[in-house]
Amino acid sequence: MTGQEFFRDTQETIRQAVAKLGHSENVYKVLRNPRRTLEVHIAVTMPDGSIETFLGYRSQHAAVFGPFKGGVRFHPNVNKEEVEALAILMTLKNAVLGLPYGGAKGGVICDPTTLPASVVEQIARGYVRGLKDMIGPEKDIPAPDVNTNSRIMGWMLDEYLKQATAIDFSVFTGKSLNLGGIEGRTGATGLGVAYVTREACRVRGINLRGARVAVQGFGNVGRGAVQALSEMGARIVAVTDVTGGVYRAEGLDVAALSAYAQANRGVAGFPGGAPLTNEELFALPVDVLVPAALEGQITAEVAKKVQAPVIVEGANGPTTPEGAKVLADRGILHVPDILANGGGVTVSYFEWVQGQQGGLRWSERTVHRRLDRYMTDAFNNVLSYSKRFDVSMRDAAYLYAVDRLATGMIERGWVP
Ligand code: GLU
Repeated sequence: MTGQEFFRDTQETIRQAVAKLGHSENVYKVLRNPRRTLEVHIAVTMPDGSIETFLGYRSQHAAVFGPFKGGVRFHPNVNKEEVEALAILMTLKNAVLGLPYGGAKGGVICDPTTLPASVVEQIARGYVRGLKDMIGPEKDIPAPDVNTNSRIMGWMLDEYLKQATAIDFSVFTGKSLNLGGIEGRTGATGLGVAYVTREACRVRGINLRGARVAVQGFGNVGRGAVQALSEMGARIVAVTDVTGGVYRAEGLDVAALSAYAQANRGVAGFPGGAPLTNEELFALPVDVLVPAALEGQITAEVAKKVQAPVIVEGANGPTTPEGAKVLADRGILHVPDILANGGGVTVSYFEWVQGQQGGLRWSERTVHRRLDRYMTDAFNNVLSYSKRFDVSMRDAAYLYAVDRLATGMIERGWVP
């Protein structure tokens, strides 16, 4: 799927939600495009002394409820339309979770997995220099996304503070604990996926204890979900990532798999299971499927083969609109990204609040308890829209988000 297709699909989903809710087309006109997208060329000195430039973006969509918020990804497939679509999805996600934020997203076209740390650091710093007037604790608060982490946030924060008039660390979230980060942020998206999976299983009458789960992706989100779900008693039977995959019907040894993936930079070849392809993963006889890699994975074709009664989206945009339609027609409970993976930005919000409270530390227990509350409330709000409009959970999440946004826009006088 190209970035353009992803962007058009995202627009179309919003257009349909606005129409279904009976709001005026004006709401769609305001929401269909980001407010602005900045393009930045970052010059970097490579280890051999030559100069290389990297292209990055930051897109801010709509700040109906507060400052812009969303992650920054470092990935070779980043492009402008993809970043813009993801910014729109962040607005919707923040609205579903009830966070006081608008949506934003950033990305740099690069592959940090093959670049030396000194180059990644220069990219991070150059990116922030290009963005410095656009971001700030009360303007736009970036965070980690695909291939970015607390280490990169540390460099970005440092670069930002060199130019800032006030020394306020709340401009980034997903920082290390030492630099004002919050307990549990790294695993937060995966943990949120697990809470929502628990709710979805409850609705479907599936006992999470012993439930068979297959996860696509073993990055930050996939790993976090695997760990949290196995702690809740689920059986992780399959995991795939860019290197390959593994399957074991009785359940994988999650701790051994994590250690193996760390040492071997991927799950392929893990001796505690049989090899598995991505294609095979989606068609497995499991109770829950968690796509936690990149967008565009579950097409109509793939959706026809899905056997799981529950899908919980850890990644952003993993299902195409055609794929979603097939899943809905087949009665599969499909919990979409803007609800299911909102745990990351929710704990980012807690980190931001912690910073605004003068750095007063929240315990991990408090973080988990409040995250559970936010995720469960959001799930139930979406469930009530699903019943009221007689639509899938996926469509209901968009309806709920767009309804909140439309109401806010009307209250602020953005649309008549
Ligand atoms: N990148 C994450 C997301 O897509 C988190 C964003 C944030 O913490 O601001 O939701």
